[in-house]
Amino acid sequence: MEKLALAAFLHDIGKFRQRYELEAQNRAKDIKDYYKFFLEKNNFLPKNEIEELIKAVFEKEMPDDIQKAIVWVADKISISNLEENKLDLEEYDIKNIKKPLTHIFCDEKYFPIKKLSVKNIFPVDRVEGSYKELWDEFERDLNKINKIFANKENAEHLKINAFEYLFKKYTSLIPNRLDVSKSEPLYEHLRMSAMLAGVIGAMEEKEEFIEEIKKGDFEKKRFLLIAGDFFGIQDFIFDEVKTKYAAKTLRAKSAYIQILVKVLAFYIVEKLNLPYFSIISTHAGKFEILAPNEKRVIEILTKIKDEFNEFFLDNFFGETGVGIAYEECNVKELVNKKEYKLFRERLANKVEEIKFKKFDLHKIKEKIFKIDEGIDNQSLCDFCQKRKGESKEGYVICDVCKNFVDIGKNLVNNRFLAISKEKKDNDIEVFKGYYLHFFDNPSSVKLKDDVALYDIRTDEEFKGYEKWELSSYVATKNGEVLTLEELAALSVEEGIENNERTKGVEAIMALKGDADGMGDFIKTSKVTDSFSKFNFFAKMVDYYFSVYVPISFMQKEPFYTVFAGGDDLFVLGAWDKTIELAKNVRGDFKRFTENRLSFSTGLIMSKANKPVNFIAEFAEKALESAKDFCCKKTDKLCKEVKECKEGYIKKDAVSVFGYTLNWDFYNMVRKEVLEEFKKFEETYEVKTTILYRLLDLADMRIEMEKDIKKSIWKSKLCYFYRRNISEKDNDFLAFLNEKIENTPKEFKASLIEYIYKRRSK
Ligand SMILES: [Zn+2]
Repeated sequence: MEKLALAAFLHDIGKFRQRYELEAQNRAKDIKDYYKFFLEKNNFLPKNEIEELIKAVFEKEMPDDIQKAIVWVADKISISNLEENKLDLEEYDIKNIKKPLTHIFCDEKYFPIKKLSVKNIFPVDRVEGSYKELWDEFERDLNKINKIFANKENAEHLKINAFEYLFKKYTSLIPNRLDVSKSEPLYEHLRMSAMLAGVIGAMEEKEEFIEEIKKGDFEKKRFLLIAGDFFGIQDFIFDEVKTKYAAKTLRAKSAYIQILVKVLAFYIVEKLNLPYFSIISTHAGKFEILAPNEKRVIEILTKIKDEFNEFFLDNFFGETGVGIAYEECNVKELVNKKEYKLFRERLANKVEEIKFKKFDLHKIKEKIFKIDEGIDNQSLCDFCQKRKGESKEGYVICDVCKNFVDIGKNLVNNRFLAISKEKKDNDIEVFKGYYLHFFDNPSSVKLKDDVALYDIRTDEEFKGYEKWELSSYVATKNGEVLTLEELAALSVEEGIENNERTKGVEAIMALKGDADGMGDFIKTSKVTDSFSKFNFFAKMVDYYFSVYVPISFMQKEPFYTVFAGGDDLFVLGAWDKTIELAKNVRGDFKRFTENRLSFSTGLIMSKANKPVNFIAEFAEKALESAKDFCCKKTDKLCKEVKECKEGYIKKDAVSVFGYTLNWDFYNMVRKEVLEEFKKFEETYEVKTTILYRLLDLADMRIEMEKDIKKSIWKSKLCYFYRRNISEKDNDFLAFLNEKIENTPKEFKASLIEYIYKRRSK
């Protein structure tokens, strides 16, 4: 199965190389002549065993040999849409090699012909980049893999992972087909071909399946899509941890969820005897796996469900768990536009259902919770406040929480993570015989029973190993994670002189945000046109939050990433920096999605010593109110904001300092207020009482909608201004009047920020 999958994965390397040759005006060879050269050059690939299989993909008709037929069929299914109930054959169109990949969010724009990297995910208007540069860089990185693994025995599987990662990086933003408009990416085609070849190869009735395809019968539900979902993420991460220690475990717990979900996916495919290529995705606490639809598979899955439940009951009192749902499908439902959409909806409903079932109570009624006996105030764990712990380094900690603290330290101080079946010293067991081994120097470790090995650093450097940006970003000092107090101390840095704060409030801010209306977007847009298009879409949205955001905005400024991935984000940071971060994340998300999707955010400012689960709960509520945002704005302002054309603006909002505001209006007013007040302060002496009085006037303006008597705010403003600010200067008065009149809430939120920045300590 692994060989079938690998052959299918490699079959189209020629497309990449051929475009490179043609671009250089060389006489290009036939596309199928390139893989041989490639197999020879990369001696870690099992050349003899897969060469014949790859050759078979290029046959005009389905080969008779069953192995070859499987690889042939996997490729054809992957490129077909079955509109006419027959498999497509590809026309190699070499005239049009510079045809770029259509952008997922905009049919008229493209991805550049470049590698997957934070700079290259935005839509561009015309062809950018070249195959020459792309291939040269690809080869350089490929050499790194060859060099590293040259003398490593028993590491076939890890080499192939690194190799697959490299393909993802270099072929995700280039089209597979040049003979159709809006092709899927080359990488997605290879990945889907490999997955299908592996899964078909694992079928009990593979001969029958191939026979059906030969006859043009695509109806039988031969596949099973398995979806796993970790529920209770927020409660699991925030728990009852004491604020003092929160920074030691929050990120670690969030990373643990990602690791656990990956390990559980490994566990499932091993139990089902499927190749790793059958794992479709593992991100944001979810996994998806394709399997054959067979009795044996369902029986094993039923057993695995019980094992998962038992694990979560034993370790986490059943407060969290991983639900498994599955839905059967046929070939059409994987590739046909209409049918895939319907299938996706059916699967989504099944996943929704398991969220309500969680644990099968009748199966666990015999179960007795393992509760530690004899816990008292001296032995209660400071982290979870549930288990019995031991006193260490000034706090009490239980074994489970100690694992999280260790993971947290390792994420910060080590670059590599191996998931292994052999326990080495200090390894942390994740699930039934799977261990985590962190290390910083890869040449020092034996790579024997490792299931996977990752370079976990969130940067763009390729060191020859598969990359998984798990470390995300947390601010550190001398190898230790900054505490929330230390983060708060970095507020309003311009207010610190000679290590002494002269002005500015010290506080942290929690940012919780996610993409708006994803469910509807998935239902109605083209991203669910096929299996490979949907996977590409999901991967790119995840990439934006888990890689683009940390690399672009968090490397230079100190933040604490609790989670970043899927379509959401939870970050803690100094309050003023966090407002800027929210603005930037939302702004670039709009640019990335060509305004097709928006991003709502809840911001909660707090003293660093407040319980962190309490802050998280408020951030969640703030986000909810941003999601509920809907308003009709005045015509005057509408002209400046595009989204407002129909009159109403929904979502795309930020909840900040107690007000829920449309992002565009807030940005506009905030910029003006911060600038104008700064200028104003250069000319006039501004007493804090003046600023507070302006807040009161804005309040009156807000209350005026309900209480007409409050319309007196205007004359009060004039009187107050003349008396306390200036008798002659009219400009600033006009500015205040206009802002309070038209955007009192935006004005107030911005002025509060201004006051907190200048307030003396
Ligand atoms: Zn504990």
